[in-house]
Amino acid sequence: MFSDIKIAPPIEVFSLTAKFNEDNRPIKVNLGVGAYRTNEDKPWVLPVVRTVEAQMACDTTLNHEYLPVGGLPEFSYNAMKLLLGDDNPVFTENRVLGTQALGGTWGLKLAAEFMHRHLGVDVVYVSKPTWGNHKGIFKDAGFSQIKEYRYWKADTRSLDIDGMLEDLKNAPERACVILHGCAHNPTGVDPTNEQWKMIADVCEERNLTIVMDIAYQGFATGKLDEDAAAVRYMQSRGFEMFIAQSFSKNFGLYNERVGNLVTVTKSNDAVLKVKSQMDLIVRTMWSNPPNHGARIVCSVLNNPGYLSEWKEQVKMMAERIRMMRHQLRQKLISLGTPGSWEHINTQRGMFSYTGLTEAQVDVLQSRYHIYMLKSGRINMCGLTSNNIDYVADAIHAVVSG
Ligand code: PLP
Repeated sequence: MFSDIKIAPPIEVFSLTAKFNEDNRPIKVNLGVGAYRTNEDKPWVLPVVRTVEAQMACDTTLNHEYLPVGGLPEFSYNAMKLLLGDDNPVFTENRVLGTQALGGTWGLKLAAEFMHRHLGVDVVYVSKPTWGNHKGIFKDAGFSQIKEYRYWKADTRSLDIDGMLEDLKNAPERACVILHGCAHNPTGVDPTNEQWKMIADVCEERNLTIVMDIAYQGFATGKLDEDAAAVRYMQSRGFEMFIAQSFSKNFGLYNERVGNLVTVTKSNDAVLKVKSQMDLIVRTMWSNPPNHGARIVCSVLNNPGYLSEWKEQVKMMAERIRMMRHQLRQKLISLGTPGSWEHINTQRGMFSYTGLTEAQVDVLQSRYHIYMLKSGRINMCGLTSNNIDYVADAIHAVVSG
């Protein structure tokens, strides 16, 4: 039965880590992984998460009953407040729905399934480049066309806003567009406020179906509200839209799969209808979501003391990333590495699109045992005070030819 099955192509980010783990050189650096690392190059369990987990372990009122199909209501509610702001009128007007999902990935999947089954949308536009999973998620949900809008301008190492607007203007009416809420993966380049206005204008003109993907709230500026500004702006323009929220990165809860799909509608009546259909989609996909991670997030967001601890811890992560950006740029400049490295400093979030070519990436891996995605994307957290000189020297050598 299985003998004719073809071997699937490897998933780049995971096969890179496997290669890194097999590499037995004493000096090696993994800049490929999509998770936060401390300056000791270790995963970090946030102290506030540890505190809440310890409490949960002793709390005899908790049990392992199924959660409702749509998830833990207080989790979704607090998650949405974090995203849209406490005093957002959508809450008093009861025209927003939160559906707990398995990380940001399944929030997107849920939105894609909903659009395909109920809204008749089957064309999606993703940024070029985008997170490696966007295309696959929408393809699997039955979208017939996966299109790209221009985003990264290689020569200026910045946002190709003219290209982006032109491509979206040419999109068919009601096509879905995925917009990264902040800290764009993989480029680290976000639109400015003025550019968001232009993007919103085109979405309005073309009546596009907006999905905002926010997997890094807090990582762009270190401030939760500031990082939600683009999402809040788009929502304030009056669009009905989806927003896929992930707590994998900002809570360091990667393997707990904590996400929330936010659906903003124009009326409470629409919320009720959407919820009934959303629940049916969830029912056949995972039936009921897991409890542990969502309860941690909810307990933190719901408690002013824990909330401010968490905000500090998010800020620490963002600051370490910013420091690594700054130092890498400084080192490349002081080495006299050809080219401008300002973009490393101005890009935001966990990733930097270095502009290194595929050939240079190959040499960095084979000669220096520095691992990164073929596109030249690096995870800034893979840099530490121990390895940054080594990495800067290697980039210098490779770029200088
Ligand atoms: N969206 C983007 C842009 C991401 O970078 C990621 C994860 O890397 C996700 C969504 C998915 O997040 P999660 O791990 O919570 O499923």
